[in-house]
Amino acid sequence: MTDAIVLNSFKAAAKILAWLDAMGCRKLPIDLDLVRQMLPETPFGRGTVIKPPADLTWGGSEGALVQNPHNLTEWGIFVNPKARAERRRFTVAHEFGHFILHRTAQSSFHCDKESVYSGIDTLKAIEREADDFASHLLIPGDILRDRTHGQRIDFRLLGALATEFGVSLESMCIRLVKYTEQRAVLVHWDNGFEKYQWKSAEVQKTRVRLKRTGDQQEPLPDTLAADDAIAQEWDGIDMAADAWCDSESDEITLREMKHTYAGGNRVLSLLILESAPPRADFRTGWEDEVTRDTFDRFIDNAQLPVR
Ligand SMILES: [Zn+2]
Repeated sequence: MTDAIVLNSFKAAAKILAWLDAMGCRKLPIDLDLVRQMLPETPFGRGTVIKPPADLTWGGSEGALVQNPHNLTEWGIFVNPKARAERRRFTVAHEFGHFILHRTAQSSFHCDKESVYSGIDTLKAIEREADDFASHLLIPGDILRDRTHGQRIDFRLLGALATEFGVSLESMCIRLVKYTEQRAVLVHWDNGFEKYQWKSAEVQKTRVRLKRTGDQQEPLPDTLAADDAIAQEWDGIDMAADAWCDSESDEITLREMKHTYAGGNRVLSLLILESAPPRADFRTGWEDEVTRDTFDRFIDNAQLPVR
């Protein structure tokens, strides 16, 4: 498995997409069962068998990849049967990521959505790598570029793309923010508090700072996120950027979009800021940056957050 050691999530996904392309099977949504059957025929999985995904019958996980202790060539993927179809697809792709990138180090992986943000660092690193792999496999960059080139970015476009790619709106938004050359910020709210933020490269370069409300970030006054009367705003509303940011002058505008999930507890805010020149002292290493959230800080202090 020397190949796997030098691989990263992007290269591994690109290789699989190239193999699918060579077979004339690189179509949307990406056929994950074909990928499962193909992997043992490739350098990524030679000599193994990957069983078809089965229902996960134990609680606490979204998915799992497990080596059969009685037959070490055989690997099983397990998926939460209660999850939505697009979430199950992402989980299967995520487990392929572990299979390709991490299986020489571990014989079982038990994955949940939270460990990407709140696990110990080594766990977070491999969970994020598997997520990145899934994201690159399910949302090929060249097709995303074609679909978004010259388009106004809003939740209508991203919702349509999510359907086409067979992913959730959230997965689509994260991929977009990590890919776009625009200044974009995605904020996920959970029960009225920020769970995470993703910032685009341009946001990092131009040192956009979102205003803080305290240790537990809450929606800022005069933003859609704080307006309980508005559950959905998929087109977005233009406003002065200083409603959200303390780094931006009052001449800069941003467009805020809002999506509230069924049940009302989870909200996605997407901000597209007017472009601005890079500020001189932006730090490098921005890639895939996600802010540490309140949950992380509480975990660091060995305390559970108050929800
Ligand atoms: Zn995982």
